[in-house]
Amino acid sequence: MDEQFPRELTSVERELLLWILPEDRPGYQQYRMFIENSSVVAKGRRGEGNYIIADPKVKADNDSPLPQIFAHGSIIAQTGELSVSIRERLEDQIEFEIAGLHGEVSPVEFKEIRRWTFSTWLPALSCPKCGASVREVAMSSERGQQLELAICTTDRMLWLYDARTGVNHPIPLTNYYNELMLHKNIRDPKIALDSKRLFTDLEHFSDTDLILALKTYNQLRMKVELDGNIVVPVKQAGIIERLRRAFRPGSSER
Ligand SMILES: [Zn+2]
Repeated sequence: MDEQFPRELTSVERELLLWILPEDRPGYQQYRMFIENSSVVAKGRRGEGNYIIADPKVKADNDSPLPQIFAHGSIIAQTGELSVSIRERLEDQIEFEIAGLHGEVSPVEFKEIRRWTFSTWLPALSCPKCGASVREVAMSSERGQQLELAICTTDRMLWLYDARTGVNHPIPLTNYYNELMLHKNIRDPKIALDSKRLFTDLEHFSDTDLILALKTYNQLRMKVELDGNIVVPVKQAGIIERLRRAFRPGSSER
């Protein structure tokens, strides 16, 4: 049966979408308001469960490149798993997807066992998906804006927590890894194109490596609006190099 548009969100859709946009974090507010005040205007291009929400007067854009994921979560149900995601806002529309990942789960009615979302993560918490501890790399802008990169090697996921907005931004692996390889000057395609090495070789990357990669990644594909450049820690230089720097006129090394 053909669906009619525009239509209102179903109560399940609404509940699931608002759940991955926690109310107590300012950075999710705009998305919550958008969802509360919009209608489902069209299907998306990714099949079952993928829809576009907007003002009913807006003509849905299904041609522009698909925006990246903004928020994500999952419902583990008795008969399978239901994945919930919202993409970054594209002008006057927001796209979402509520779809079965494994097994047979109806997005309309399901017996829930548990649920998790990256949106509620905070520094020092374990991975919301698997419960393992994550590698955390704290960094800040020149004006003290606090960010925290989190990497779960079990789930092969990384995300960036912005303390100012409370948002956990999912970071796409391939682009981030590419920046990391550029910084490390690694060109051997066996390594440079094998992005899962971020997780298998994670201990070989220093915090500074991971920060440098994030800094340029954010410059190229902005995830977080910054009030200044990300501060990169001074590399562990040898004692002579450190003394030389310390005595250099105008040195700011602490
Ligand atoms: Zn995990």
